[in-house]
Amino acid sequence: MSAPSPDRLDQLRAPVHWQAVDFISDLHLQPGEPQTFEVWRAMLQRPVSERPDALFILGDLFEVWVGDDVLASTASTDQAFWRACAEALRVFSVHTPVYFMAGNRDFLLGAQGLNACGMHGLSDPTTFDFLGQHWLLSHGDALCLADTDYMHFRAQVRQPAWQRDFLARPLSERTAIARDLRAQSEARKHSSANDPSLWADVDAAAARAALQATGAHTLIHGHTHRPAVHALGDGLQRVVLSDWDAAAHPPRAEVLRLDAQGLRRVPLPLS
Ligand code: MN
Repeated sequence: MSAPSPDRLDQLRAPVHWQAVDFISDLHLQPGEPQTFEVWRAMLQRPVSERPDALFILGDLFEVWVGDDVLASTASTDQAFWRACAEALRVFSVHTPVYFMAGNRDFLLGAQGLNACGMHGLSDPTTFDFLGQHWLLSHGDALCLADTDYMHFRAQVRQPAWQRDFLARPLSERTAIARDLRAQSEARKHSSANDPSLWADVDAAAARAALQATGAHTLIHGHTHRPAVHALGDGLQRVVLSDWDAAAHPPRAEVLRLDAQGLRRVPLPLS
């Protein structure tokens, strides 16, 4: 089966035979949350006849990614988990193309990691031509302009020089940094800082401008953990993906399906 690479890193044209594609984001897969991993792996293990024609992962698939060498090294105690993630994707990708756009948690996934997972990398944003229309795909963090501290941080860590310096550190040091970040994240779960409704949201004017620049009518993004459809005027809209947490009450695990009937949310069976 052909698995088309993007014409450019920021533009993908669907082959004419594609009828349905699925979008997911913000799974935040991590060793300490096996339930979400199992629901996701069961989705990937569906028979080919029950799959979409392509799977798009729009960022924050992983809670953290400290470098592609986690897949090869035995220095990381989490290694088996990351390898299991890569293997599930690789096996799925044999029959179904997978496209990956980096989020703010997993932007250090590099060419080796993409290859190990059988995924094609996409730039943020990417224009997707499908069903005779243009769709704009993004993680979403670059559009949350009100969070100026984060925008400053993002500009720094997306620089090749910063990434080279970080990845040159020993894996044990990078893993320790990630563990500290996870501990801080756990602490935030017990504070208001973990309430997504208090996070900076996508800037409406920036979303409109991005759509108008690309001729797309609908922006599909994640990051904010606030699944919704927002009208932006002039027939433009943004559709926000849900994050995943299979252990939450109620659990969250769904794909956004796009086919000739339009966009709809499809909850996944819980394992
Ligand atoms: Mn994010």
